[in-house]
Amino acid sequence: MFDSLSDRLGGVFDRLRGRGALREEDVQAAMREVRIALLEADVALPVVRRFVDSVTEQATGQQVLKSVTPGQQVVKIVNDALVEMLGSETADLDLAATPPVVIMMVGLQGSGKTTTTAKIGKLLKEKQGKKVLMASLDVNRPAAQEQLAVLGEQAGVATLPIVAGQSPVDIARRALNAAKLQAVDVLMLDTAGRLHVDQALMDEMKAVAEVSTPRETLLVVDSLTGQDAVNVAQNFAGEVNLTGVVLTRMDGDARGGAALSMRAVTGKPIKFAATGEKLDAIEQFNPERVAGRILGMGDIVSIVEKAAATVKADEAEKLAQRMAKGQFDMNDLRTQLQQMQRMGGLGVLAGLMPGMKKAKQAMANSGMDDRVLLHMDAIIGSMTPKERERPELLNAKRKIRVAKGSGTQVQDVNKLIKMHMEMAKAMKQIRKMGGLKGLAAMFG
Ligand code: GDP
Repeated sequence: MFDSLSDRLGGVFDRLRGRGALREEDVQAAMREVRIALLEADVALPVVRRFVDSVTEQATGQQVLKSVTPGQQVVKIVNDALVEMLGSETADLDLAATPPVVIMMVGLQGSGKTTTTAKIGKLLKEKQGKKVLMASLDVNRPAAQEQLAVLGEQAGVATLPIVAGQSPVDIARRALNAAKLQAVDVLMLDTAGRLHVDQALMDEMKAVAEVSTPRETLLVVDSLTGQDAVNVAQNFAGEVNLTGVVLTRMDGDARGGAALSMRAVTGKPIKFAATGEKLDAIEQFNPERVAGRILGMGDIVSIVEKAAATVKADEAEKLAQRMAKGQFDMNDLRTQLQQMQRMGGLGVLAGLMPGMKKAKQAMANSGMDDRVLLHMDAIIGSMTPKERERPELLNAKRKIRVAKGSGTQVQDVNKLIKMHMEMAKAMKQIRKMGGLKGLAAMFG
């Protein structure tokens, strides 16, 4: 996701940052490139226009152009505008109502609605200790109700027993009664999808909403469908009172337009991003982090959080502090690699970390897999303590020694050094933006 957009923008900004002084024309030329990059990423035209106008106006001001680091400032302005485009703040689920609080899930067939229902149910149960009941109102698709029951079992979340022949509204009523009787905190209603938006679907949703008065109505859209996802969202937003959007298949290689346009087009926040088929492949949508990812800074906070889930809190804290200070030597990289292994390998982190995506691609191309993590560990293990602290010591002769010692090739050693450099560079960028404070400001 966002790969080519990220690459394109990275190129534009590297050129801007590379110059000591900026003229208004330079910024304007850069913004023309940004505009094309966004359009190619499938971002809706009005959204692109607004974005480019706003950034150009801010970035061509004298304060910016005459500053010591104009390029850096422009990137900061773009970052902030991206964050705004994505919705500014992380939007929590609103569950502040008398229980059972109803969450109605809507969307087209195949968007990932049923899976997402189970994912959110699991999240609420495990992370917030809620008692959750899920009910499928999908009487159109054969076995849809059974599918939710199976997912519920996997997720450890209760589902409403299936009664054949009931209408969606009847099921919703029955679910509400059951939820009240069982003192359920959150009732999730998985409504029927259709292949296209049609009036029957909308009428059905409205009828269900009328009997269940949902606190949240979440639209599930497939981010791979780009502009279509945006059109679908617009249609739904015009008919039902949406409270938020869930983007699925963010693990795919969509160009990102759906994610970037959704907020502006629907006026509703993206609340979650789903990133895979497994039931815990979902995360709260965090505009600041996504913007950081698009601008190629890597998602340091995600990395640290993921690390925190598997390593001791103080270790994660130390890591975060070192990263924020721009300190990142081979020992840090080694700790990271070891953590990655514990976290389930490269797949999880690819895309989060600068350089990681390319490393993973390179590995995939050469038919390699997570064993590479072990190789990297062996390479660092063959360095002397001095080399680990100061990788720049690694000249050709030393590289040959390290490769021999670790049973790898010099080119593997080079790849590792390059990856370390890219990561260290990202840390420095963050430090330039104000160290820990900058990190906090950037990622919230
Ligand atoms: P529904 O028809 O909208 O209820 O869609 P389903 O929940 O049945 O999902 C359709 C397919 O998409 C299933 O095979 C899911 O495993 C898959 N799926 C759902 N969400 C994601 C996601 O975020 N990433 C990926 N890769 N697959 C997903």
